[in-house]
Amino acid sequence: MVVTRFAPSPTGYLHLGNARTAIFSYLFARHHKGKFILRIEDTDRERSTKEYEEMLIEDLKWLGLEWDEMYRQSERLDIYHQYAEKLVEQGHAYPCFCSPEELEKERQEAYQKGIPYRYSGKCRYLTKEEAEELKKKGKPFAIRFRVPDGRVVVFRDLVKGYISINVDDFGDFVIVRSDGMPTYNFVVVVDDALMGVTHVIRGEDHIPNTPKQILIYEALGLKIPEFAHLPVILGPDRSKLSKRHGAVSVRNYREEGYLPEAVFNYLCLLGWSPPEEGREIYSKEELIQIFDLKDVNDSPAVFDVEKLRWMNGVYIREVISLESLAHYVRPFLEKAGFSVEEEYLLRVLQKTRDSFQTLSEAVDRLRPFFLDEVNFSPEAMSVLENERALLILEFFYAKIREEGLSGQKVKEWAKQAQKELNVKAKDVWHTLRAALTGELEGVGIDVLCDVIPVEKALYRLKRAMD
Ligand code: GLU
Repeated sequence: MVVTRFAPSPTGYLHLGNARTAIFSYLFARHHKGKFILRIEDTDRERSTKEYEEMLIEDLKWLGLEWDEMYRQSERLDIYHQYAEKLVEQGHAYPCFCSPEELEKERQEAYQKGIPYRYSGKCRYLTKEEAEELKKKGKPFAIRFRVPDGRVVVFRDLVKGYISINVDDFGDFVIVRSDGMPTYNFVVVVDDALMGVTHVIRGEDHIPNTPKQILIYEALGLKIPEFAHLPVILGPDRSKLSKRHGAVSVRNYREEGYLPEAVFNYLCLLGWSPPEEGREIYSKEELIQIFDLKDVNDSPAVFDVEKLRWMNGVYIREVISLESLAHYVRPFLEKAGFSVEEEYLLRVLQKTRDSFQTLSEAVDRLRPFFLDEVNFSPEAMSVLENERALLILEFFYAKIREEGLSGQKVKEWAKQAQKELNVKAKDVWHTLRAALTGELEGVGIDVLCDVIPVEKALYRLKRAMD
């Protein structure tokens, strides 16, 4: 059975790149009717927080991901220690008593010589007795993995092809720090092996770690999984996508009013090419059907926020149901202070869903449908102060009071008003718009008049006449 996992460190918001890794791991597992695991990698106690963990989980759920099992590394420390002991017993690892000062000195020396630093191996050949002696004296120690001399690790990456790395450059690396905390490269192997992970899907920044992990698999006699390293996501300037480029966390987009379906769909297209050329809109179910790692590109993908916006607009206009659009837009309107009645909201959205691309934009567009009191902008004010404005408003006030309101009627009356009052079409529409919305641009007045209640319209006209 295929088993994949997403293994975030709760040290920040869910980055778009990590969200894409999670999505690909999820799709691959679901495609193969396998298992998808969420593993919180919180062994870095200084940087990990419970709040970030909660937010990660919330954002993953928001994206529509579900996992079959969840683990937290901080709850598995005993397991890691058992495996570390095993490595020490078998001679694949050893205690290292070098102090931070000694190690710093080594580092400085390497730096001065202009050579890359690797641990000197000073504690590599301590006898068991010598090590025991030092432990008895209470000298703090880390545990280092003994990197075999002269090895070149070769593996076939499912995205990148064959990769070979000479491990001589690594030096013996720490697997348990002197404070007892195990390190990433070590715990990731223990966990992936014990959790039965068959495919490790992660960002390509982890390629240099993979040979270290392979050495640990070998030393522990554990089965090595398949690896798929995903290309980085770049910003528009072709440097790695980061905060410099603006909003890079899933949460930013969620708060700005992007739909989870659209973000999910868009992220899939970053570095993966669907088999059917030219088509871009896919539901999660379709993606599960067609996703394959072989269609992941091995070159970087460029994040294009305009494309995401466009796709969000497509989802708003055409893909999701009116009811789910209402469900998504409601909290945005409520946050802006509007009280929202469901049936009215549905009627508004039916007429307006093609006029905005994000939900925060929707709030601006839909304001005139929900406002109690219109605030007149200075531009609207000057239109209303025009001497013809009062005539126009009185004309419409009378019509609406007698005949009710609809977009069609307003269009007809506008023509009538032009003739009867001898005014230009532009004046009529500007005046109506200023009175009904307080602005000179925005949603179509006929659209507005199709939906807002008669009393609301009359009230607004009256206020504008006063
Ligand atoms: N915690 C690591 C990260 O967030 C996981 C890397 C991996 O998937 O092995 O980068």
